[in-house]
Amino acid sequence: MFTKPFRFERAARLADACDLLRQHGEGARVIAGGQSLLPMVNIGLVQPEVVIDISRAAGAPDIRQDDGYLTIGALVTHARLVADEIAGRAQPLLGAAASRIGNARVRNRGTLGGSLAHSDPAAELPLVMVALGAAYEVTNGQSSRAVRAEEFHLSYLTNQLEADEVLVSVRVPSLGPQWGWSFQEFSRRDGDFAVAAVAALVRSVDGVIVESRVAAGAVADRPLRLAEVETALTGASPADIADRVGPLHAIQPVTDSAAGQAYRAHLCRVLLIRALEEASQRSAEAA
Ligand code: FAD
Repeated sequence: MFTKPFRFERAARLADACDLLRQHGEGARVIAGGQSLLPMVNIGLVQPEVVIDISRAAGAPDIRQDDGYLTIGALVTHARLVADEIAGRAQPLLGAAASRIGNARVRNRGTLGGSLAHSDPAAELPLVMVALGAAYEVTNGQSSRAVRAEEFHLSYLTNQLEADEVLVSVRVPSLGPQWGWSFQEFSRRDGDFAVAAVAALVRSVDGVIVESRVAAGAVADRPLRLAEVETALTGASPADIADRVGPLHAIQPVTDSAAGQAYRAHLCRVLLIRALEEASQRSAEAA
């Protein structure tokens, strides 16, 4: 709980939140759904002096598809992402991942921007954004910039936002023809954070994998793109996948209360093979 008084501000627009962040400096934090910020306050990890509510910011982008891309606003909740038909058709990986977040209460309040800015390495949405090669639109209220997902998530709960910046929206490619997708996660209880998670996209032509995008979560201090696996898969048939996925040199799993390092590494490879086989199957069906 908040152990000392704090000032509450409501930002009418995202740009106003940036002004307030500039005005109040490092003691200020934005709050969207509060599903991570408040637990962090409760365990004493953060004690903001000023809380800037952006949850009702006018003019924030919603969900739209154009020119082969899907743009999703930072204030879109996880529940909305799961249920939205446009997003479901354009990029089903998003809803599949968002449906694994927490529980209904968390999904109804938690937002895309909050999950990405929170940058938990076991979170589903940063993982999927790295797999998709997403671009985040970030603003300081005066100018905006695009940041690639792989560059945004720097380390455990650490991202590339400047002190006066907020996340506005995310842009991901729509699922193209011949592509298949899969999201695989193991958590000890439904709604817990992942012990390991994998997001995979595969494009195969005449039963041969010609392109793939693969990322793993909860096995490093940020979501990891597995480029070595993507290279090894090119030219493989679905039957070869298990043989092509060797040891995962890029991952750096830790031992914690949920799992040991060796178990996490093994689990990640099992989930990866399962995801690639499912994505290949979907790609063959999409041909
Ligand atoms: P907030 O808590 O409002 O903010 C989170 C952080 O991001 C804060 O530092 C805040 O300042 C910042 N922030 C928020 N919005 C923006 C923005 N637009 N621009 C810049 N900074 C911003 N998460 C998972 O991924 N998987 C899980 O399985 C999972 N299980 C959970 C279970 C429980 C019981 C709870 C309470 C949480 C769980 N979470 C899980 C965490 C939570 O779902 C997300 O991290 C949360 O949804 C973040 O969204 P929010 O809008 O609530 O963020």
